[in-house]
Amino acid sequence: METIVWLVLFLAVPIGLAYRRTDLLTSTLVLGALLLIYSVVGGGGAPLKVLLWIVFLGFASLNSQIWRREQVTRRFIDVYRRMLPSMSRTEQDALEAGGIWWDGELFSGMPDWRKLLRLPPPQLTPEEQAFLDGPVEELCRMLDDWQITHELLDMPPEIWQFLKEQKFFAMIIPQSYGGLGFSALACSMVLTKVSSRNATASSTIGVPNSLGPAELLLHYGTDEQKQYWLPRLASGDEVPCFALTSPRVGSDATAIVDHGVVAKGIYEGREVIGIRLNWDKRYITLAPIATVLGLAFKLYDPDHLIGDVDDYGITAALIPVKSPGVEIGRRHFPINIPFQNGPTRGRDVFVPLDAIIGGAKMAGQGWRMLVQQLAVGRSIVLPSNALGAAMAAVYASGAYARLRRQFGLPIGKFHGVGEALARMAGNVYTMTAASRVTVTAIANGEKPAVPSAILKYHNTELSRLIANDAMDVHGGKAIMLGPKNYMARNYESVPIAITVEGANILTRNLIIFGQGAIRCHPFVRAEMDAAKDPDREQGLVAFDRLLFRHIGYALSNAARSFVQALTLARFTDVPVDGAIRRYYQHINRYSASFALITDAAMLTLGGALKRRELISARLGDVLSYLYLASMVLKHYQDQGSPAEDLPLVEWACRNLLYKTQEQLHGLMRNFPNRWVAVLLRIAIFPRGRTYSAPSDELGQAIVELLINPTPTRERLAAGAYTTAEPGNPLGLLQQALVLAEEVKPIERRVFDARRAGEIKHDDTPGQIDEAEAKGIVTAEEAETLRAFDRKVLELTGVDDFAVSDLVRNPPA
Ligand SMILES: Cc1cc2nc3c(=O)[nH]c(=O)nc-3n(C[C@H](O)[C@H](O)[C@H](O)COP(=O)(O)OP(=O)(O)OC[C@H]3O[C@@H](n4cnc5c(N)ncnc54)[C@H](O)[C@@H]3O)c2cc1C
Repeated sequence: METIVWLVLFLAVPIGLAYRRTDLLTSTLVLGALLLIYSVVGGGGAPLKVLLWIVFLGFASLNSQIWRREQVTRRFIDVYRRMLPSMSRTEQDALEAGGIWWDGELFSGMPDWRKLLRLPPPQLTPEEQAFLDGPVEELCRMLDDWQITHELLDMPPEIWQFLKEQKFFAMIIPQSYGGLGFSALACSMVLTKVSSRNATASSTIGVPNSLGPAELLLHYGTDEQKQYWLPRLASGDEVPCFALTSPRVGSDATAIVDHGVVAKGIYEGREVIGIRLNWDKRYITLAPIATVLGLAFKLYDPDHLIGDVDDYGITAALIPVKSPGVEIGRRHFPINIPFQNGPTRGRDVFVPLDAIIGGAKMAGQGWRMLVQQLAVGRSIVLPSNALGAAMAAVYASGAYARLRRQFGLPIGKFHGVGEALARMAGNVYTMTAASRVTVTAIANGEKPAVPSAILKYHNTELSRLIANDAMDVHGGKAIMLGPKNYMARNYESVPIAITVEGANILTRNLIIFGQGAIRCHPFVRAEMDAAKDPDREQGLVAFDRLLFRHIGYALSNAARSFVQALTLARFTDVPVDGAIRRYYQHINRYSASFALITDAAMLTLGGALKRRELISARLGDVLSYLYLASMVLKHYQDQGSPAEDLPLVEWACRNLLYKTQEQLHGLMRNFPNRWVAVLLRIAIFPRGRTYSAPSDELGQAIVELLINPTPTRERLAAGAYTTAEPGNPLGLLQQALVLAEEVKPIERRVFDARRAGEIKHDDTPGQIDEAEAKGIVTAEEAETLRAFDRKVLELTGVDDFAVSDLVRNPPA
């Protein structure tokens, strides 16, 4: 018995010290005291005690920095240097772009929730709110999806005019230059609302307000460039685009071959030093109607006219399209969402040096500029557009599932359809949370690069899931194209956001964890810098300090992961009580497991981790799910913690934490070093996989919130264009849903009478007539039922066309 007590103590005390991240000296003193007590009062033979003291003295010697540096670190640092991944300048630029926020906390294995919870809730300025309530509402009212996507294949001139006049293209341009000067939150909310109405308009508005000339000028432009271009862009006199992608070069954007050579040439009648450019770009949004091209190209100076460098690398410049040699105007046709997008070519286009954004001193800085701006911008435009489309799909599907009846019941009552509806609602709640909280963090000064990539990937992927589910819920109604189809263009538009700004497969496999691992890890970046320090002795001192803190951190994560897995995270401290407390605790648990497995992957794979895309992708998934679950909890708090929304919070958190568990499992199944995988499994799943996905019952509770006119349903679509007006299907569906509640008691009487055999007709109009004739309903009630039936038929109806209206080029 006594032996067991000592065994437990010798296991529990070190694990406890590691769990609490106790420093090395204190840990040494505590373990020394324990060993001393054991030596005096404990049983066991002298040889065991001597052995334990030898082990302890080895451990205690680590407190001597000189000893450990010479005996341990000096030997290890050379191995470490060999393991370091090679890093190109462009990778280095990507790594340095943006900052670290909540992602860093999740990497720490012990997130400090106060950092997230003290972020204020989203708050628009009065001007921003007025813009949403005024011009944005008006724009949504004006947009006619069928006209744009089928009849004109463009927005009509009055919409273009309205967009320019109301400065939709100048949301990010400060007021001092004539723009609107909106926050990231306001830009996101404008895009979400417009996108819930029409993808062509939201894609068009997105471009000038994301990575492009205005954004680059604001951050890197010279004063003269800002004074010249920004007011023109703000007024809409200049229409910008940004051209990077070319026929041979898509994802691998740094491999562009479009080039500019520094040369003397004639510009506006004078000989100047300038750049002679040649390019061939494709897929460029707004290019067909642009007046100024933001162009990315490689700059060469073989004659050393501006310095002693031959090859400057990627450079960004502004090229007026009226410059001789510029070719624009032709259009691509992006998947039935006809926003302006097309190729552009340039042949020997000569521009002065000050066409370079930021002037000649910024030659070769183009890639750094792009990745720095993308680091934040990625979380705004595409995730917001995806959110708007998803909100519209969920709001419409909820109402449709209540209004559309089959087998005598609203289809939403069938559990199979309910499963899709619950998934849609849970996913859109996750997307909204991620978008609102992250853009609020940006509006409060954060520059979260890794969360931006998470949002870009997950919001666009979730919107794909939602679009698929919405199509299934609507059946044929969503397939027959025409003015009455409010779903198909939404569905068609999904791959656009998935593909641009880093296509999603690449974003998941290379960017989320690939950038996150080095930049967010509390030690790795600093260790790499120390190992590469040209002053080797100085580097060794710094490396030694970091290495031992890193080892302590890894041991702590192992202890935390193990203990929290054993206790199902019940005792980990979190700053909230009540129904959602457990989700905070599980995030703490998995954060420790994630930090542990990250270290194991980096240690065993080193630079090869970069090529192990599926390991990197799964690690990125775990980080993403923990990030998204944290956003859900914060969003719930920001909304005032409404109890009715708890099923959504539970669904979203359970779904994300369950997937976290499964991806951790997948990582261990595929971990290249099998011995390490076994140890990881002990530390992460000592009780096996215990976390469950959302239950069917929870799903059914969510369905009731979505297919009835509840406040939760409204909150799910808060930010979409749901105004009740004749051209807006979302508003009309909602009106019918409210009416469905009102007619329910009347319908019930007709239904009961039919079951009792009093009403014989099979079809609805016949039943209403018969019920009226037999006094089961009054004349007024019968009229209400008829009006409701007509409304439902109209909303669930589809279009048909004369062949001549459909076929554009009939055979001669
Ligand atoms: C509608 C639309 C608008 C656009 N607007 C602009 C614009 O305004 N300006 C501009 O410059 N560009 C624009 N683009 C281009 C866009 O950025 C590219 O399409 C994108 O970078 C992907 O390049 P790609 O289409 O050539 O695909 P590819 O590079 O050919 O990739 C094909 C697939 O392979 C995957 N992949 C590639 N490499 C890897 C890897 N190492 N690991 C894992 N997966 C990988 C990708 O994720 C993708 O799924 C636009 C594109 C579209 C479709």
